[in-house]
Amino acid sequence: IEGSDSSNGYSSESAAFQNRLKYLRNFGISAHIDSGKTTLTERVLFYTGRIKSIHEVKGKDGVGAKMDFMELEREKGITIQSAATHTKWNNFGFNLIDTPGHVDFTIEVERALKVLDGAVMVLCGVSGVQSQSITVDRQMKRYDVPRLTFINKLDRRGANPWRIIEQIRTKLRNNCAATQIPIGLEDDHEGVVDLITREAIYFEGAHGHILRTAECPPELVDQMESKRIELIEKLADVDDYIGDKYLEEARISEKDLYEAIRKTTIARTFTPVLLGSALKNKGVQPLLDGVCAYLPSPTEAQNYAIKPAADGIGEEKLLVKTDDREPTIALAFKLEDKKFGQLTYVRVYQGSISKGDVLLNTRNDKKIKIPRLVRTNAEDMEDLKKAGAGEICALFGVDCASGDTFTNPNQASKLSMESLHVPEPVIS
Ligand code: GDP
Repeated sequence: IEGSDSSNGYSSESAAFQNRLKYLRNFGISAHIDSGKTTLTERVLFYTGRIKSIHEVKGKDGVGAKMDFMELEREKGITIQSAATHTKWNNFGFNLIDTPGHVDFTIEVERALKVLDGAVMVLCGVSGVQSQSITVDRQMKRYDVPRLTFINKLDRRGANPWRIIEQIRTKLRNNCAATQIPIGLEDDHEGVVDLITREAIYFEGAHGHILRTAECPPELVDQMESKRIELIEKLADVDDYIGDKYLEEARISEKDLYEAIRKTTIARTFTPVLLGSALKNKGVQPLLDGVCAYLPSPTEAQNYAIKPAADGIGEEKLLVKTDDREPTIALAFKLEDKKFGQLTYVRVYQGSISKGDVLLNTRNDKKIKIPRLVRTNAEDMEDLKKAGAGEICALFGVDCASGDTFTNPNQASKLSMESLHVPEPVIS
């Protein structure tokens, strides 16, 4: 209950914080090279207002905007993709985390995957599942990352989302189904029909930022109904509630479908597939809605810290509590050298970090003081007083290595977010 004392013992500030966390998504975008990850990232930042000025400055239409962004990066010194970029959409906050997905297992990839709660896997609507898509898929499975799939480039000649969905099923062995059907393909790709609401969504205006909804075009009604049944059948395989209703031939409401998709996505037994063309500004906003609706909030993700076992031999896992009243546990997942010195990207798993805090680096038992705490955006940095459990921030002037864990200095046992037996962390 926002802003009020509640019976579970949260102070009003804490209750408001926990409520805010429900509207936070820490997610990454992963893809085979050339599938459109950069373009999609740019569009996400554009639609969420982070780099709105670009088109106004350049006065061009959305097509070919990639070059504009690059020019703007150079001119204004903005970063389209840093280790973590904070942005907002509707009532939601996002931390878009860079996942170097096409690289096979390295400690850096491992850390990036660890700090995100969900991901969008981008596939090209023509090339489909490629070698790096298989790598990305394997990584997501290994780290239990819930995900959505975005089939991109539906404007390209030869694009066929249904063939790609078959590949997701056969090559990746993922239980998946489209939650949309395309309205037109190739040059005629205009929008999508949402299978949950049965609404047609058209993307209009130079940047596809005007969403016009209408009834499903008559020629697509049969396809919509059959693909809607396919979606329900795939959900019925993994969700008892939908399964029972389907068998009883009972009415399945929009709410039932949203809830089942959300539940099974978080349980990683189902992958919703969304459609569009990032370059042509189609389908990006519904994808953001999908991230909000289906991917988990930090409070729904389960994370474990590692501590030495009670008998002194080996180590044991400790479930972290996404609660800012608990002792602090935070992981430094990426270091960046900036003009002004080192910036350390941190995910706070438990407790909080405030400006001026003294924390303990559990790798070398050194105390560190936090002089400045920020959130990085595409264009600037926002100073923070505090970052709580579930949040991602960047620290200035902290001497540490990637992979280090920070706790409160008085914490009883030695904790780490990574195995205590890892040799010296790589300093990047
Ligand atoms: P990344 O390597 O995955 O980051 O892919 P990029 O975003 O750099 O895109 C690779 C190429 O595909 C670029 O030339 C983009 O302009 C193009 N591209 C990206 N999205 C689309 C799309 O939706 N349709 C078409 N036709 N081209 C696209």
